[in-house]
Amino acid sequence: MAVLKEYKCSGCGYEISATPTGHDMLMLADLFHFACKDCRQIVDVYVPHGKKLDEPVCPKCSSKNLDKQVWNPITGKCPKCNGSFEETGKVWMMD
Ligand SMILES: [Zn+2]
Ligand SMILES: [Zn+2]
Repeated sequence: MAVLKEYKCSGCGYEISATPTGHDMLMLADLFHFACKDCRQIVDVYVPHGKKLDEPVCPKCSSKNLDKQVWNPITGKCPKCNGSFEETGKVWMMD
């Protein structure tokens, strides 16, 4: 069970839902957030339990041009405008 929070970029208003640490364990897979350099979005990469995260692929544009580091909303920057994210206060759970 993961807790997702909604974040909004203070620069451009880009909204995402993300785990505060950038990764979490779900029922079927581990979830990681990455910043995609091609489509400039924060994307969710799922890795089935027992598998390694070798080369993350963007689920939106199939690019492998992702940031090497797992992205998190606390220290991570907005891939669109390089701004920082603020919590909007919305929180939900994900199995
Ligand atoms: Zn932004
Ligand atoms: Zn992409």
